[in-house]
Amino acid sequence: MGARLTAALTSSARAARDIPILLMIQRDDTAGQGRGLALGAADCVAKPLLREELVARVRTQLAVRAAAGALSEMDDELACARASLEAEVARRTEQLRAEVQRLQRKLKLNRAAELKAQRAQDELAHLNRVSSMRELAASIAHELNQPLAAILSNAQAALRLLARTPPDTAETRAALEDIVADDRRVARVIQRMRAMLRRGEISAAAQDLNELVGDTARHMAGAAASAGATVRLELAPGLPRVRGDGVQVQQVLVNLLVNAFDAVAGRPPEARLVVVRTLPGEGGHVELSVADSGEGVPPEDLERIFEPFFTTKARGLGVGLAISRSIAEAHGGRLWAESSPGEGATFRCALPVWEEDARPAG
Ligand code: ADP
Repeated sequence: MGARLTAALTSSARAARDIPILLMIQRDDTAGQGRGLALGAADCVAKPLLREELVARVRTQLAVRAAAGALSEMDDELACARASLEAEVARRTEQLRAEVQRLQRKLKLNRAAELKAQRAQDELAHLNRVSSMRELAASIAHELNQPLAAILSNAQAALRLLARTPPDTAETRAALEDIVADDRRVARVIQRMRAMLRRGEISAAAQDLNELVGDTARHMAGAAASAGATVRLELAPGLPRVRGDGVQVQQVLVNLLVNAFDAVAGRPPEARLVVVRTLPGEGGHVELSVADSGEGVPPEDLERIFEPFFTTKARGLGVGLAISRSIAEAHGGRLWAESSPGEGATFRCALPVWEEDARPAG
């Protein structure tokens, strides 16, 4: 292949890069064929020309071109699809970001509302503790009075014994020991009052429910007497301990007892009965119930009586049951009422068993 042909091929290739060029060469000119292909010829046909071969090679080139055209169209479509996909992704990302921000704002609002409700609940709980304290004050005063009187009389006796000649030290020691024991009793009562007035979380510990009931019943003996009510305790022996805050569990019982005393107050003296029971409950719970022989609760009020400030009493606050239920629930338990009109009401409180006592022995 001469220099002229090379120059012609070079300029043709530049001018019409996309037009396939078929190079015609001598059948045995393999070097020329290689150079032509290197310079951009699409294919070579050998002289002398065979018609079928030429037609086949031209067809091949046309097919290659058509395929290249289709490929480039696909490329354009792909680029288009990628651009719209990217736009869609950007749009969805923006939407999701806005949604996340909206949810974050909502969460913040919910948290604020939750905190507000919690604060209101705490206030209510505090208010209720203070009002329960009033109910307890009379019996606690009675409980303090007795050891204080004993301390006074033992101290006076000790003074007299010391004034003897010679002083009676053995008797003085006995009087002083009684003073110490009585003082400890007073301290325990005061400690209980402080715990009741303190605001705060439940401090869960293992509690013997029967002991708590016995203790509370003793505290409430004065209130029972002034209502003319007979309180009967039916405590199941050998119950597992419950998990909870002793003071708060007692507070629930105090509220239920105060209500029961109110409920029986309108009955004839011999029919003013309040029964406090403890018994094994269902699903890892122990049950405490207070049943009275009052008028009962109308079926339509059985749930409403637990709403804060629901009261049917002229001087009622309507917070006792609401707080008692929230205490029961804070313990992982439940408080509910059952009543048959005219046959009194029963308030039942289920409290969870202390984990160690829940495991089967051995
Ligand atoms: P309060 O005693 O101040 O009204 P509570 O929340 O303790 O507040 O009680 C709400 C209401 O539930 C009472 O006003 C009364 O109508 C009803 N109730 C509570 N205990 C009894 C009961 N043992 N028998 C009948 N009704 C009761």
